[in-house]
Amino acid sequence: MEKVVYFDNAATTKVLKPALDAMLPFFNDRYGNPSSVYSVGRDAKKAIENARAIVAGAIGALTEEIFFTGSGTEANNWALKSAAELRQNKGKHIITSAIEHPAVHNTLKYLESKGFEITCLGVDKNGQISTDELKKAIRNDTILISVMTANNEIGTILPMAEIGKIASEKGVLLHTDAVQAAGSVPIDVAAMRVDMLTISGHKLGAAKGSGVLYIKKGLKLPPLIHGGGQENGERSGTEDVAGIAGLAAALEYRVSRLPLDSVAQKRDRLITELLKIPRSALTGDPINRLPGIASFVFEAIEGESMLLMLDHFGICASSGSACSSGSLDPSHVLLAIGLPHEMAHGSLRLSLCEDNTDEEVDYVIEKLTEVVAKLRKMSPVWNED
Ligand SMILES: *Cc1c(COP(=O)(O)O)cnc(C)c1O
Repeated sequence: MEKVVYFDNAATTKVLKPALDAMLPFFNDRYGNPSSVYSVGRDAKKAIENARAIVAGAIGALTEEIFFTGSGTEANNWALKSAAELRQNKGKHIITSAIEHPAVHNTLKYLESKGFEITCLGVDKNGQISTDELKKAIRNDTILISVMTANNEIGTILPMAEIGKIASEKGVLLHTDAVQAAGSVPIDVAAMRVDMLTISGHKLGAAKGSGVLYIKKGLKLPPLIHGGGQENGERSGTEDVAGIAGLAAALEYRVSRLPLDSVAQKRDRLITELLKIPRSALTGDPINRLPGIASFVFEAIEGESMLLMLDHFGICASSGSACSSGSLDPSHVLLAIGLPHEMAHGSLRLSLCEDNTDEEVDYVIEKLTEVVAKLRKMSPVWNED
């Protein structure tokens, strides 16, 4: 196979060795149904409970607060739809941010169509919401706040502990999508004071189709998926034992590697070198940002053309987010941070993991600098001065 330089770890990751090792036995030797009473079944059940304890330990939760789901998207749907259902008699007002992932954004749009009222808080140029604005937005009928821990396109980390303090003082439920944060920065549900928190396996070195919803003890969230009563009646469907074991192993491994200083150093080198390209800019918070995300806009560049030319050099990267590529609309996140349409079209996200080497960083800097210059030379709108 030709050389692949993978700088798209925020889209998905390779399954880590410890995760793969944890998963494999459940495809053959340990194939029991966790609900069965005989020993192969009990063995699978034990593996799930072991994984639950590991995940709980990794985020400062109790084991009974961890529920496995089929994806991060499912966990977000469950949290938002069920919290809305649970509290609808108290009020129908929900607050969110303008930079949420579609799994939150579109779920809230659905709830809006069902009669809920959504207030979407704008963000500043770094992608930060104003906590003063949040306080002012909370009303007597506000039942739920959903703000992501860290953004997938621009890497901004939001001040969840501050947001959690506000929500808990006002008695409003708080959900956070921590899909990009989990395994990259420390997560502590108690310090964040969240009621619900979402994790996805494939963003942190486990398999696609695995997720977690943390639900704070005492919060009786109605199930989203009904059936045989698995996950303590909260999420039915025969458990993906391998996926669950892999998610726990990956999360445990990643948390043991924190802080990701060597990844952050490579990110910073990408930022320093790529900002030497004329009329380029960093997107997202320069300080409070994920260690693995370097994101930019380049004036007079079409993001898709840039990706295709990088692909020609074996470099995998993203423009906007993978979910929105294929559409010509610029990313809602880049518009929310105040970029004009024409700049937002020229966006690039490079997302690293511990596997990425200094040589790869050099290669990406060299090729990207070439690609931007070449595209600009061909561009009718580019003007050197
Ligand atoms: C990828 C992602 C999701 C969706 O997770 P899936 O497991 O792919 O469904 C949700 N939120 C954020 C921030 C993401 O990056």
